[in-house]
Amino acid sequence: MREVRVRFAPSPTGFLHLGGLRTALYDYLFARHTGGTFILRIEDTDRSRIVPGAIENLIGSLHRLGLDIDEGPLTGGAYGPYVQSERLEIYRCEVRRLLDSGDAYPCFCSPDTLAQMRSEQLSRGEFVKYDRRCLHLSREEVQARLERGEAHVIRLKMPDQRRFRFDDIIRGQVEMNTSQSDDQVLLKSDGFPTYHLAAVVDDHYMKISHVIRGEEWLSSTPKHLWLYECLGWEPPKWVHLPLILNPDRSKLSKRMNDVSVESYLEKGYLKEALLNFVALLGWHGADDREIYSLEELCREFSLERVNKAGAVFDLTKLDWMNGIYLRKLPLDEVIRQALPWFEKGGISLPDPGILRTIVTAARERCTLLPEIAAYSKMFLSPAPLTAEEAEILASPQSQSVLHWYVEHLPREGILEKAELDALVKAGMAELGIKGKDYYTPLRSALLHQPHGPDLPTIFAILGLPRIHELLREALRS
Ligand code: GLU
Repeated sequence: MREVRVRFAPSPTGFLHLGGLRTALYDYLFARHTGGTFILRIEDTDRSRIVPGAIENLIGSLHRLGLDIDEGPLTGGAYGPYVQSERLEIYRCEVRRLLDSGDAYPCFCSPDTLAQMRSEQLSRGEFVKYDRRCLHLSREEVQARLERGEAHVIRLKMPDQRRFRFDDIIRGQVEMNTSQSDDQVLLKSDGFPTYHLAAVVDDHYMKISHVIRGEEWLSSTPKHLWLYECLGWEPPKWVHLPLILNPDRSKLSKRMNDVSVESYLEKGYLKEALLNFVALLGWHGADDREIYSLEELCREFSLERVNKAGAVFDLTKLDWMNGIYLRKLPLDEVIRQALPWFEKGGISLPDPGILRTIVTAARERCTLLPEIAAYSKMFLSPAPLTAEEAEILASPQSQSVLHWYVEHLPREGILEKAELDALVKAGMAELGIKGKDYYTPLRSALLHQPHGPDLPTIFAILGLPRIHELLREALRS
């Protein structure tokens, strides 16, 4: 097999979205699995869609997720530049070759002419495609119009009736006829290439062995194969990834805020969970296993195990997976990833031992990172009691519960769970109070909220001296 070289080729039109991440991840996994090279190429030839800062965002997101780039705009490499707008001379040179061989031709039709052609074809119920009127211009006329500097594009002359057969690693053998293929624009009037020309030229010169891209490009493959043929080059292997679907099976929205990787990280999903989840949007391992670290994915991934059917994006599964990772990752790593939410919530950090005890309890019951901070907040910076809570706490019944604890609870040391259970039962029996009336005052005094974790957890986190302090405060209020 040819040396594996794969590229992720996003257009810098905004944030990295989940579909893009899936392509990048499959490129990365395939490269790592085969000892190949993972390349980042920026496809910025559609100047109207460029968003400032998007390249930095894309690279930042990949870096944050741990997908290291082997060759790319910042990393460099032997086949650069890796930004298409810096390769214009290379495309123009190939276009000259295609013009010389007659495989491409200039087209002077204005956008208005094309719009009219389109509406006439539609009204006649015909397939909409360029009618080739500029292909039939005389050599002299073309020359004269070019010399006058008339605006024009360069089109690829597609063969009329040609059946293209190609192997797609996911779909098997695919067959397509060119009868409905348009004479694709290769070079636009602004001198920039279209995706089709630039991608083929770059894939060739960057020695790309496998083109891994979304299913939406499948129907363009005959054009690309024809370009390879005209230019006398060997095409790469094709891999068209399945669509990503909403649970109702509609195509996943590309609205950036809904699906951008950054927005998921900002909501508090762990990068490990996000990568694992995205890896399973189309790929599955040899069995029903669902939890894979990035290293395990690198070991197990194969393109042959990618499905061709659309992959359903199920947010409840991502939540479930995030919970699994919150409990599975090393505690210190969870703390590290949760820290920004402590900062955002203005929660002052306790000493590391206490923080570890709190997060150990928190991660058992949380789904997202901000919940870890919210859970910790009730221990570290409890909110002031609401008027209603203060009133409940001031009732004679509540006060008697608090009194009882101040009297019976050891002042220091550690209370074993069995001892605490016995104490809780004894209090209930002596006071003749149980259920909500018994627990609410305790939680309100210790956490400033009526609900929260069970008493053993609260006791383990706060420790006896602090509990006494809080009880006394609640008795005074
Ligand atoms: N720039 C194209 C896109 O954003 C890349 C497609 C490809 O990988 O060839 O979808």
